[in-house]
Amino acid sequence: MFGLYASLRHIFLSGTSVAFEWATGAAVSTAVTFLSSVVYHVTSPNPRLAMITRQLDFAAIYISISIGSVADLAAVTRGFVNVPIVSIIDVPVASLILLLFFAFRRYELTCDDTFVEEYSGCTFGVGLLRRWHTDGAHTSVRFVTSFCLSSFYFTVTPAVLKNSSNAVLVLGLNAGAFILIGFGMILDNILLWPDDVWHKSSKGVSCTSFPRLGCALTSHGLWHILAFVGAVMIALGREYTVLYV
Ligand SMILES: [Zn+2]
Repeated sequence: MFGLYASLRHIFLSGTSVAFEWATGAAVSTAVTFLSSVVYHVTSPNPRLAMITRQLDFAAIYISISIGSVADLAAVTRGFVNVPIVSIIDVPVASLILLLFFAFRRYELTCDDTFVEEYSGCTFGVGLLRRWHTDGAHTSVRFVTSFCLSSFYFTVTPAVLKNSSNAVLVLGLNAGAFILIGFGMILDNILLWPDDVWHKSSKGVSCTSFPRLGCALTSHGLWHILAFVGAVMIALGREYTVLYV
């Protein structure tokens, strides 16, 4: 859907500004990120393959966050007017450091060091991701740094208040997206709902099971739905800013 949105925005929205082009780049990178997630999840039960696809998935996420941050900055500052270069490269450099750190960690550890099966037996009922590579002792590093990168938008709040014709709408969309994505991460990494309920009882949470379709909605599936809605809200805020700043 984001690929379609990136393609169609050139047809339905006119503009050739720096901010307009960066917004297209952000839409394309979001589409690539969702595509890489699909590839990763399809391959995650295979330890050898998932060693590579998980790195590619996170690389796509970091690149997407980087392009999105530059696109937001371009939109709210009318194409980087009076913006120091350090502000533009802030998130991309931080993302690159994280990407290199976790790639080095992957290189140092063996496949068996990181691969876990969180629920025994058939994984179909609780989702394929429950056989996966974890960040182990660096889980908190991944979690906290992702939180910091995701909160980037609020560092441009002064520019939004000064330049945006509707700062409440734009900040509200980004704050809403931040809360949704944050809640999804907590649901998937800490609460583990509904996976834990399913694991303890075959009755589970009926509204998350679709026997006729042969699938179930896991906590990670819910995270992806929330992340998608959050990505749409961020894109809406960006489009409004590109059009009306
Ligand atoms: Zn995922």
